[in-house]
Amino acid sequence: MPVKKIPQRMCVSCRTRKNKKELIRIVHMPSGVTEVDPSGKKPGRGVYVCRSRACIEQAVKANRIERGLKSEVSKETIDRLVQDALQYTIDEADKGE
Ligand SMILES: [Zn+2]
Repeated sequence: MPVKKIPQRMCVSCRTRKNKKELIRIVHMPSGVTEVDPSGKKPGRGVYVCRSRACIEQAVKANRIERGLKSEVSKETIDRLVQDALQYTIDEADKGE
């Protein structure tokens, strides 16, 4: 019997492989727009990061998002991505204060 495969992706920050659903996708679309993709279905090159503030911040600090997307991402866009991505973190006690 074939084992049902759960799609796995690697966090660009901590390099841990996790189920897709446990990660946040950031996509660089052919239109040139870079954004958080909660559906995971937008066209374009994507990178994944854990739903964790620490991983998101580390990914930004180390330029892992830009590198993973293989395209230049402006500081403004990065700031917006971080704000968006933080809405999807699940390990934060201070969420929704
Ligand atoms: Zn991670």
